[in-house]
Amino acid sequence: MIIQLKETVSAAEAEHLAAENKSFAIDYQGKKLLISSSSVKEVPATLQDKTERSWVFANDNQLASRDFQRETREVSFGNVKIGGETKNTIVIAGPCSVESKDQITESAELLKSLGLTTLRGGCFKPRTSPYSFQGLGLEGLKLLKKMKEQFGLNVITEVRDATQVEQVIEYTDIIQIGAKAMYDQGILRACAKTQKPVLLKRGFGSTLQEFVQAAEFVLSGGNPNVVLCERGIRTFETGTRFTLDLCGVAWLKEHTNLPIILDPSHAMGLAYGVPDLTRACVAMGIDGLLIEVHRNPKVAKSDAAQQLDHTTFSNLLETLRPIATAVGHKIV
Ligand code: PEP
Ligand code: MN
Repeated sequence: MIIQLKETVSAAEAEHLAAENKSFAIDYQGKKLLISSSSVKEVPATLQDKTERSWVFANDNQLASRDFQRETREVSFGNVKIGGETKNTIVIAGPCSVESKDQITESAELLKSLGLTTLRGGCFKPRTSPYSFQGLGLEGLKLLKKMKEQFGLNVITEVRDATQVEQVIEYTDIIQIGAKAMYDQGILRACAKTQKPVLLKRGFGSTLQEFVQAAEFVLSGGNPNVVLCERGIRTFETGTRFTLDLCGVAWLKEHTNLPIILDPSHAMGLAYGVPDLTRACVAMGIDGLLIEVHRNPKVAKSDAAQQLDHTTFSNLLETLRPIATAVGHKIV
């Protein structure tokens, strides 16, 4: 249940009431809210004279639910807004991993030349083998910050564990929580304590309800700036790396107020399929895309098979603009 407290209730009293009622107290758009489990269906007697408004839910999709807020949230990625009334489809692009100064500089130059705003690049890579390239760590974060300063780009990178959240906040504009980390409560709780935007990826074995509940950890902890990212789920199919769940995207659009970004690169796992898949994503009227691009995919230190080369990516981008226009969006 979500309870909006009356304006006369002070912040200190709201905290006290939250502790008494096993609730979270947050400030959302100037409103003081108490959030408790969806199993609570009635305003407790002790809160009745302090309640302005309340919402009852069938399940724990609460702050993220369209029943709480009809309009999609507006979230700022550095100097670019998505969601809300913007109708922006942001194209976030860059290599799977930051590998060297030269390599990430070439990515930044490409984005700049195409009029794009937001560069991705992994520094802490959650690899499935300890013997694979694990990322440049802090050195990678410093390179991303350099790209931000030199090219005026927003930068996004992934946290692999909760101890990295502070550092990632210091060097980048958006925190990415990877598919394998979706259930990591240490990371989710650390991200709840900041106001930095969080791009939360769906675990590849997670239901939509579990995905939204992971987002609720961040929202109920006080960070309203959460964006969901569908990046493919594991099915019986082995011909492609994962299966991009576009039905799931339709469900999320209907039931949640969070902006939605799609990652066709990790879903497909094979570069040849990424352009068509990306066009299908844009046709759904989404808030953004995450696409892996590398100056020379063949020698990439991670996810070599799925990264687009610069020419393919540039050509793809041109084909996206009319599709976005057809569904009332614009590529930014
Ligand atoms: C990535 O974005 O490079 C990545 C590791 O993605 P995911 O968490 O979706 O596997
Ligand atoms: Mn990758």
